[in-house]
Amino acid sequence: MTSPFDVPSCDKCRKPAIHHQVYSGRMMCGVHLTDSVRKKVSKAIRKQLVIPYGGSITILVAISGGKDSAVLLDRIVDALGKNSRVTIVGGCVDEGIEGYRKPSLECARQLCADLGVRFETVSYPELGFIEMDEAVKRIELTNDKKTPCSYCGVFRRQGVNHLAKRVGADVIAFGHNLDDMAQTVLMNLQNGDVDRTLRLAPHTENLIEGMIPRIVPLRWVPEQEVHLFALERGLPIHHDECPHGEGALRFRHREMVALMESDTPGSRHGMLRFADEIKSIHQKLDQKRMAPPEACPVCGELCSGTICKACEMKESLGSNPSS
Ligand code: SF4
Ligand SMILES: [Zn+2]
Ligand SMILES: [Zn+2]
Repeated sequence: MTSPFDVPSCDKCRKPAIHHQVYSGRMMCGVHLTDSVRKKVSKAIRKQLVIPYGGSITILVAISGGKDSAVLLDRIVDALGKNSRVTIVGGCVDEGIEGYRKPSLECARQLCADLGVRFETVSYPELGFIEMDEAVKRIELTNDKKTPCSYCGVFRRQGVNHLAKRVGADVIAFGHNLDDMAQTVLMNLQNGDVDRTLRLAPHTENLIEGMIPRIVPLRWVPEQEVHLFALERGLPIHHDECPHGEGALRFRHREMVALMESDTPGSRHGMLRFADEIKSIHQKLDQKRMAPPEACPVCGELCSGTICKACEMKESLGSNPSS
């Protein structure tokens, strides 16, 4: 008979379990959890990354100092680090957030040093944007209903694109995990935004004209498993949350996805499969639905309006005090 104080054991090796994978029913020890994450991510890298026959590629891995991108870089280096046809670069955008970005940037730099990967960084002022701490003050003054993250997300995307161009990247890898992906699918659904659903990474089979393709090898790994993997591997990661993140719409979606998953285990996988299915049906039927993106007349980045979102937001926040 088992007592309530018995530690559940791993299904595979009977060692004490550290994780209950509710959606599969499995109990896992640290070794078998890392094994499972490793296999899932390696399979996703093989599926999403196309290395041209006889050619070479450069991958920019967007890193932040947090657990997701640390695991992503660790896995990409493990899978491709010895391949002479692949160049891996870690790139981090410095948004200018006092007390948060500096230590996380250091973790990102340390990770690259540990893995023997070139490290690149760019700051908002270098990109012509004001630092986020200053932007937050100005957003409050403008009575704008948009949260700091709405601005920051747009600016950071430009930062990653800038780094990708700087290093001549053919592919950009992002550390979005299964929870992130499910939240995005839900947000797009709520907004009735089919185009964004169709543009969801990975872009392996649906290249977007004028855009460096994105891959997301952690997309089938839940956030908790990514975190446990990072701890098991002892990767240098920064744990604090950004002070400006509160109030972001994504937090509401995070709660909703977590609730759905706890009510119906497997919901996150279902949401992602649903988006994949829409993409695949679109590919077979109606490839011309999306208007081709145009270049922003101010900065040259891709945009769907008259000027791009980043230029529009930059304009609304006023000029950069340091420029
Ligand atoms: S939480 Fe929001 S403001 Fe903070 S770094 Fe992320 S996107 Fe930027
Ligand atoms: Zn085990
Ligand atoms: Zn622009």
